[in-house]
This record gives sequence, C-alpha cells and structure tokens, in this order.
Amino acid sequence: MKRIALEEHFLAPGFEEYWLKTVEDVDPALYGQVLARLNDFGEQRLSAMDTSGIGMSVLSLAGPGVQIERDTATAVRKAREANDFLATQMQKAPDRYLGFAHLAVQDAKAAADELDRCVRDLKFSGAMINGHTNGQYLDHPDTYPLWERAEALGVPLYLHPADPITPMPALDGYRGLKRATWEWTVETGTHALRIVFSGLFDRFPGAKLALGHLGETLPYQLWRFDSRAKLYGVKLNRRPSDYIRENLVVTTSGMFSFEPIDCALKALGRENVMYSADYPFENPAEAGAFMDELPLDPGVIADISYNNAARLLRIKATS
Ligand code: ZN
Repeated sequence: MKRIALEEHFLAPGFEEYWLKTVEDVDPALYGQVLARLNDFGEQRLSAMDTSGIGMSVLSLAGPGVQIERDTATAVRKAREANDFLATQMQKAPDRYLGFAHLAVQDAKAAADELDRCVRDLKFSGAMINGHTNGQYLDHPDTYPLWERAEALGVPLYLHPADPITPMPALDGYRGLKRATWEWTVETGTHALRIVFSGLFDRFPGAKLALGHLGETLPYQLWRFDSRAKLYGVKLNRRPSDYIRENLVVTTSGMFSFEPIDCALKALGRENVMYSADYPFENPAEAGAFMDELPLDPGVIADISYNNAARLLRIKATS
C-alpha cells in the first residue's frame, strides 16, 4: 500500500518573494536547489515520491505566501491564483497529486468562500495555514467564518510553521536555534495551544487541525496542560488533552525519529498519526527509510501510512 503524504510543498509563480524571506539566512546555492524542486511537478517530484514510498502527495504552497501580504485585496487575489495554478498542476498526475488550498486569512469570509471553491470545484482536500496572518492567530474570532466552513465541509486546516510575530528574544545570540531548530516549534505549538485554550473546539466540535513535526511537542505535554489548566481555572467544556486527542491530528513531517512517534501514538491514538515527508525540505530517502524500518505492528504502520489520511481526506481506496 503506497503512502499518502500530507505536507509536501510547491511554489506558484509570483510567490518566490514571500518564500525567500524564510531562507534569507541559508546558503543561496542550497536554496537554489530547493527552489528548483519546489517549481517542478514532473519527473523529479514523482521520483522523489517513489523514493519515499508515496503514492499520493497533498501539495501545499511553501509558506508564508499571502499571509504576510499587507494588502488584503492582493492577498485574496493571489491566493486564488495559487489555487488555480495548483489545480492545473494536479492534472499532470491526477492519481498522484492532491491539494491543500492557500488562503488569505486576512479576510476570513473570503477565505471561507475560497476554501469552498477549492474543495467543491478543484477537489482539494482542505487548507494549509502558514502560522499567524500579519500577527493574527487562528483563535481570533475574526477567523470563525473560516473554521465554520472547514467544519461544514469536513476538511482539515493544516497549521504549518512560520516565523513568530517578532523574533524570540530568548534566542538572541543563538542563530542555530532560530526558525526550524526550535523557534518554529515554540511558535507553532503555542499557536495550536491558543486555539485549544480559546475554546474554539467547543464552538466548532467537528473542526480538525493538523500539525506537522509529530505535533510540535504537544503529545509529550498533555498531562501538564490538563493539570495547569485546572490550577489556573481555564474554562473549557473538557480537558485540553481531550481536544488535542479529538480535534488534532499530527504528521511525521521533518521528524523521522522513533521516540516522538511512539509518544504521539500513545498520547493521541494510532488513528491520529499520519505520514509526511515535507518535500523538498527533507531527504525523501530518509523519510521513506524511517517508515520502512519502524518497529511497529504492520496494522499501525498501515494506519500511519495510508488509512488515517484516506479517512481524514476522504480518499477512495485504490487497488
Ligand atoms: Zn513543511
């Protein structure tokens, strides 16, 4: 059974400038290669998928995209263009490529309508949101129209890491801890916790939030979230861990290590852990080998590799 991968990236024309901000501290020779892979929808991408045992990739725009666009009308227009571009590329290999919508969260009503169009007309599987949108997180009531529509459509919102609103002062002097090493984990885990602690899942109990990196450390912390929420009198219908188990799913993107997947499986349940390679930011061979060598029951591996994603994204079984 070929794997389904949920966090696999591309770039659309006109989006390079947004993305380049995230690699300004990386060797240009290195990001030049990555850029070529992001722009390719042909043999290079398909053979990388074969290398990591992926039958179907859900493609998403490499962030932050229009979420750092200051002009809302431009953001709305360009998000639509990116989605139309992706839909065209998906036609090149319709049995291999799926899509997550890129959305201008600046205007949540427009984002909800665009998600609707992408799911109904372009057959996309949900949306990827690249962290905060010009400083606004997804627990903000202004974003409710988007959550409401995602819940009604039965599709997940995948929260992808992005730079924090301001660089984290605790990391001053430690360039090696910035961004993908640690900063994005703290930022994205915190973003997800804001959503949980805001009571958003009491309002939208059917909503699904996906996190990469095996849950941005959240599965490890469940007991402490519950214990401290009680201490501080957090008013929610249920314990924080209940929402994290019920409304969150996690993927292996950029986290090919046994201990965290073991923790995620035990903390969240085998139905909530899925595969991702995070192409082209990770090595496809390493991602595939991690899955090939996982010391787990074959049924659990099948759930992580295929069954859970097929159920979440309502993908019909292929032979
Ligand atoms: Zn990614």
